[in-house]
Amino acid sequence: MTSAAVDLGGTRIKLGLIEGSSLQYFKIIPASPENGLKDLLPEIKGQISEAVETLALDIKDLSGIGISFPGLVNSKENRILSAPVAKYSDAASLDLKKWALKSFALPIVVENDANMALLGEWKYGAGKDCDNLVMVTLGTGIGTSVIINGEPLRGVHFQAGCLGGHFTLDANGDKCICGNYGCIEMQTSKGALLKMLKSEREITNSSLFNEKKPDFKKLFEHAKQKDALAKKILGHILKIWGIALVNLIHAYDPEKIIISGGIIGADYPIVQKLQEFVNKHAWTPWGEVKIVKALNPDSAALFGAHFKLNELIIKKSL
Ligand SMILES: [Zn+2]
Repeated sequence: MTSAAVDLGGTRIKLGLIEGSSLQYFKIIPASPENGLKDLLPEIKGQISEAVETLALDIKDLSGIGISFPGLVNSKENRILSAPVAKYSDAASLDLKKWALKSFALPIVVENDANMALLGEWKYGAGKDCDNLVMVTLGTGIGTSVIINGEPLRGVHFQAGCLGGHFTLDANGDKCICGNYGCIEMQTSKGALLKMLKSEREITNSSLFNEKKPDFKKLFEHAKQKDALAKKILGHILKIWGIALVNLIHAYDPEKIIISGGIIGADYPIVQKLQEFVNKHAWTPWGEVKIVKALNPDSAALFGAHFKLNELIIKKSL
């Protein structure tokens, strides 16, 4: 059957219809998460109906709706528990199960976005051959998710494995939005990048320094062109990402780490650099944790929703 899947992001919402192992419909809609989720639901409903019509299907042909959410989610009850600051802040008060039943007469699966993306890569992507996986989404934030011995790790409060970006890196660091100090995510955020640029005032002949709107994309571009400042900052950021991976390896004992997020499209050997760092610094006497790129960075979470909806059908038929 066909699944309808929605991946709610901070800047973009991705919507797809998946049948078998193929993404039949894919659309990106700009997101305004500061306006909350309740007011967005009619738009999502309309977009799903439009997608179904485009493929000449009927709502009845859908197995259900899958939602990926950038916060903490009770994936057993398909309920959002906590939203990140200033993003979809009303989400935890909404009954999405009721919404899906009322809007489409369909079941819904809701999951944390990193967890959903790892399910997608595990079943349809770079993690297909492996049952011990960690996924790390590197971008303005850091998302993580874990599968151990073929079991997605969730924990009693549904936050196991998904807070790898909030491991402490610097005990003297600034306070993070999560409440902790010096989180990994804070040391590699866009704000941190700007702070690093400001603290390197002496390198004024840097092409990166003179960029009007420096960001990660620009950082990789200038580093590739051998700009000294860009190389220095990128070296520092890669070290932090490398430490993040070593922490995750020491915590969860994976065979493979899948790297995803906005940065993997950059023309820079990020995966190779992270592999070198991990080989040097992780305590893995048994061998080497493979660092690989996600196969479906844009649609992994949609595939994860498809997998969960298929599981739901199997469960119901038993
Ligand atoms: Zn934090």
